[in-house]
This record gives sequence, C-alpha cells and structure tokens, in this order.
Amino acid sequence: MNRHTVEPLVAAHVDPPWDPAAWRAAARAALRAGVAPERIDWNGGMQGSLLGGSDLALLPAQRPAPRVPAEFLALASAVLCHRADDRHGLLYRMLWRIAEGERALLQCASDPDVHRATTMAQAVRRDSHKMKAFVRFRAVPGADEEYVAWFEPEHHIVDRVAPFFARRFAGMRWAIVTPYRTALWDGEALAFAPGGSRGDAPAEDAREDLWRTYYANIFNPARLNPTMMRSEMPQKYWKLLPEAALLPDLMREAGARVREMAEREHAAPRRKIPAAPAPAPVLDGSLEALRESARDCRRCPLWQPATQTVFGEGPADARTMIVGEQPGDEEDLSGRPFVGPAGRLFSRALDELGIDRRTLYLTNAVKHFRFEPRGKRRLHKRPDVAHISACNGWLQAEIAHVRPERIVCLGASAARAVLGPGVRLSEERGIWRTREDGVRAFATVHPSWVLRQGDPPAQAAAYAGFVEDLRQLVTA
Ligand code: SF4
Repeated sequence: MNRHTVEPLVAAHVDPPWDPAAWRAAARAALRAGVAPERIDWNGGMQGSLLGGSDLALLPAQRPAPRVPAEFLALASAVLCHRADDRHGLLYRMLWRIAEGERALLQCASDPDVHRATTMAQAVRRDSHKMKAFVRFRAVPGADEEYVAWFEPEHHIVDRVAPFFARRFAGMRWAIVTPYRTALWDGEALAFAPGGSRGDAPAEDAREDLWRTYYANIFNPARLNPTMMRSEMPQKYWKLLPEAALLPDLMREAGARVREMAEREHAAPRRKIPAAPAPAPVLDGSLEALRESARDCRRCPLWQPATQTVFGEGPADARTMIVGEQPGDEEDLSGRPFVGPAGRLFSRALDELGIDRRTLYLTNAVKHFRFEPRGKRRLHKRPDVAHISACNGWLQAEIAHVRPERIVCLGASAARAVLGPGVRLSEERGIWRTREDGVRAFATVHPSWVLRQGDPPAQAAAYAGFVEDLRQLVTA
C-alpha cells in the first residue's frame, strides 16, 4: 500500500466489554490479520462499537496465531474489568508488542503501558476484595430462603467475583444487584441480568442481629487501628453493613476493654482449662432444656471468641447420631451444625447412599468454634484434648437423651470423644465397636479431611472411601 494511503479504522466489538474470552477472540483476529494497534477502534462502553469500519472477523489471516504468556492473560482478565474506556486498546498494544518480539515486556515495570496495566489490575483486585468483604445478603420478605444484596462496585467486577459467592453460599438462592449488572444464583447455576437500583434489595432482615453479634464477638479492641479500619472499611460501605452501627461504640470503648482484658489475663490462673473433667450437665428435662443450658456454657475458654454455642440438631429419637469435631466458620455464624463446606460434602454422600439427612441427629464433640484470626479470616484450629474433655459432658448428655442405636464419628477428635481417648482412627476406621451403654459406633474420616486432599484424583479417592464407610449405615 502507498505510504500516503490512510488505512481505514477497524471496529472491534467486545461483548460484554469485561469478558476475557470476547476480548481474546477480537485481539487474536486482529493480530492474525496484522492490524496495528492504532488502526483499531475499541469501544469499552456498554453498547458495543457504534463506529463504522471493517469487522475484525472478516479480515483475512496473514500470520499464525501468536503464543501469549499466561502471565499476560491473567493480567488482561483483571484489566478488562477496569472501568477505563481505553483498557482494550492498552491491552492490545501490549499484546502487539509482545507478538512483535518484546517477550519480556511484563518484566519491565517502568514501561508506561505495563505500569498502567498493573495499576489498573491492582484497583480491580482491591475492588473485588471489597465486594467479597462487604456484600450483605438480606432475606426477601415472603420468599422461601431467597436473598438479595445491593452493592456498588467501582469497576466491572460482578462476573469476576460472582463465582466466589456461588461457592461460598451454594446452598442459598441469591441475587447481587449492582447499578450495571445483576448476578443470580438459583442453587445450581450462575446467570447475569441487567443492573438495578438499591431499592431492589430489602433494607433489613432478621439476620442483622446475627451479624451484629458476630462482629461484636470477633472485634478485638487491642488491635484497633482507626485509620487502617477506615481504609479497609471505607465509609461508603458502612450503610450496607449491619455491624457498622456498632463501630462508633466499639471504638469509643476500646481503651477500657483493652485495660479490662489485661487485668483479666493477669488475674487468670495459668492453666486455661480445668484439669478435672467438668461435671456432666444435668440430665433431667428435655433435650431442648439441655440445649438451652449449653448456650451459656463457660467450661473452657472456647466460648469467648466464638459467636455462639452450636448444639446438635435433629430428631430427639433419631436412630443414628453423627458426631463431628467442632463447628466451622459458617456453623458458628448460623448456630447450626454441618452447614459449611464439609457439611455439604457430607450431605452429598448421604444423598448418594439414599440416606435422608433429616432422620439423623447431627452434633459435634466440641460445641464452640476454635479458630485463629488471620486478617479478616478465621482459620479452623483443632481443639485440644482438654477442650474435648471439657465439652464431653454435653456430648454424653446428648447421647443419653437421644439414645441412638448407632453413632458415626467423623474424625479422630469425635472418635476419642465417643469411644475413649485410646482410639486411633488409623487402626479403627470403619470398625464397629460397642460402648458401655450398648450403643454401637464406628469412626471414619471427617469430610473436611476429604476436602483438604490436594489434587482431584486424591480427593475423589478419599471421597469414595468416605462413602464406602458410610455405606455401613445402609447395610448394617
Ligand atoms: S466448647 Fe464446650 S465446654 Fe467449651 S465452652 Fe463451649 S460448650 Fe462449653
């Protein structure tokens, strides 16, 4: 072509504009056709391209498909969610440069394109983090187990973050409404719809109190840093958070609470847990009365950082009792056993075996969540022998009330609590034993152990073994 000829602009369509697959398809077609970055008119807006010009898909391929570093694709998928309109062009210019021989482009942090793309990706990741932390679902009045949350992200991150909520709240039906996009989860599949308004989400529901209790319990005044707190939890999100109403009081009282904690620690006996086993809870009265009295248990220190006692649930005359180790994060919040990821895996195994979960009495060896704070997360920490021993009175009382014919112990802690301290899971797994009270029991692994198995084949094998152990409930 004559060097004075002005080549026509090429219009590129990316729909939706934040979709990595759509952008890759357009960029790949442009690269193969040898279209230089300055010849493409990208439109990052919500309407797709409104400009004229050749369609990328119609251009003949002139070169082989380029090989693109995985690192670039990861960067691109974050940058595409940024609200800046020039992001498609920026990424294509970088891709063009890599294809033209600048293979180490991403290693050059001072390059203006790399610097801008990296900064944009960081902003998107920060926004994604905020969405994970500050979305609060509210129950839809009159609907059965349906929840809606309202959130205003700074960038186009809904598609990117929605899978996190699908995993985290797989058992609920929910919608997250934002001004530009709505994510919907029906318990099985994610779908997306146009955005909405704040009025589409209920303002408040009964769970607000649960969140407030939870937050007041995990708030550690000794770690209060108001500046950091305001940057981590910007005030624009406060209106979404039921716990935000507590913050002014908690911050005002922090100094006094720290002094009180120091005095308590000074006055406390060195040994945290009583050496002698705690006396068994009173057995007269109903199972419900037992549950009520466990609410205020202070037999060991685990009650203090936890939200609430998670007592057993199920029919008071259940034939089969399942005993796990301790409640996890979701159980601690909801007050119900076996509702977290391990509980869901357990339910899946029951479904495969045709066992109705509603016929089982489900409980744990320890009734309060033991965890280690790690930033905003609470990491599960195995209970000590002393905690199991302190809590054993509650478990034995549950067994005495329910009088199950058989007990399944999930994990070593449950096995020790039910069958005695000498039991080794590695030797006793799947073997029926009879307790002194005549109740038969066997131990298997905890479903959380199955989830912790690294690669998919190992996890599948662990799961198959777990299901085989539980099959004894069908055959025995
Ligand atoms: S873990 Fe058990 S013994 Fe310890 S406080 Fe909670 S209910 Fe009581």
